[in-house]
Amino acid sequence: MGDLIFLSAALEEIKEQNLYRRLRTIQGAQSATVHLEGKKVVLLSSNDYLGLAAHTLLQKAAIQTLERYGCGAGASRSISGTMEPHRVLEERIADFKGCEAALLFSSGYMANLGLLTTLVQEGDLIVSDEFNHASIVDGCRLSRAEVWIYRHRDIDHLEDLLKRSSHRRRLIVTDGVFSMEGDIAPLPAIRELADQYGAMVMVDDAHATGVLGHGGRGTVEHFDMMGRVEVQMGTLGKALGGFGAYVTGSRDLIDYLINRCRTFLYTTAPPPAIAAMALAALDIVAREPQRRKNLWENTSYFKEGLERLGFDTGMSETPICPVLIGDNSLTMEADHRLMARGVFVQGIRPPTVPPQSSRLRASIMATHTKKDLDYALEGLRKVGKELNLI
Ligand SMILES: *Cc1c(COP(=O)(O)O)cnc(C)c1O
Repeated sequence: MGDLIFLSAALEEIKEQNLYRRLRTIQGAQSATVHLEGKKVVLLSSNDYLGLAAHTLLQKAAIQTLERYGCGAGASRSISGTMEPHRVLEERIADFKGCEAALLFSSGYMANLGLLTTLVQEGDLIVSDEFNHASIVDGCRLSRAEVWIYRHRDIDHLEDLLKRSSHRRRLIVTDGVFSMEGDIAPLPAIRELADQYGAMVMVDDAHATGVLGHGGRGTVEHFDMMGRVEVQMGTLGKALGGFGAYVTGSRDLIDYLINRCRTFLYTTAPPPAIAAMALAALDIVAREPQRRKNLWENTSYFKEGLERLGFDTGMSETPICPVLIGDNSLTMEADHRLMARGVFVQGIRPPTVPPQSSRLRASIMATHTKKDLDYALEGLRKVGKELNLI
């Protein structure tokens, strides 16, 4: 056997820093309350914002598609893996986002890696918000472009960097909703700077798709900027309750990705049932605005509750409600005590967030009842007092 002894030493070090991660297994389907190790807990750690992950219409769509089209796609999209449900979904997403075309990816992570490595190359510049998602960070690294980081949502800093750049091509990339802060990118100001300095804009709408905007179309709709962002991506695995991701923009953008994007070309096409789930989810998003309304009402209710208790929720403007703590071990102690009280709110530590900014990250769902939220707030109050957080 190869000598993997360095791994046990590295794991020891991770444990000493209170950064060790364990997987928690949910029993049964995803829901606002779930069973975990035999115990019922209120789930405040899921990105299933609209409660669609176990919706019967998504299940039915998937089952029907499995029966008609089988399980796997058998090849990459560019060989023989493109099937009717893929195409139907892509047209539907383009329509939903008001763009010319869209392309399905296996995951948001792969979409970001693919976009960033395809849109820019050596000699180009990516300007990236410091709190952008890890998949953007990795895409930047792989791209061979120069990468300049601007302070979180700091438009003046972004302008400074753009002023200094003399690169051939420039790409500004930002999360629409920041996944650990729950705040929203200043997209109108970013657009203005991009126009002024001749840069492209790419928005990652992983947490905004189905959540932000009158029709749930994301950050661009939220700011009334439909048609004014050249590259948008989002996941089908969060508010849309399934799996996979999309990129949407101009016909040329999509055709270029089909020809050049390595994370699209060199991987097996997603199972057609995945596409059917997303189609069913988009139907619900269009037909049931009440879900979005419930989500936002629950969010206000919960956030007001947290603030009344004296917790620091940072700059959150969305269903992502961070409870800022700082210390790693204190954060995980709070996480464990809450779980013991039947509240599943995941502690988040570096490298997911910067050092000394560990936090509990509560995310709200449309399907939480007032009772669920009151129960969670009461747990947070008790644990907050026990640990002197409030
Ligand atoms: C979750 C997430 C992704 C990755 O999407 P997956 O489909 O889960 O791979 C990308 N960007 C952001 C901001 C995310 O939160």
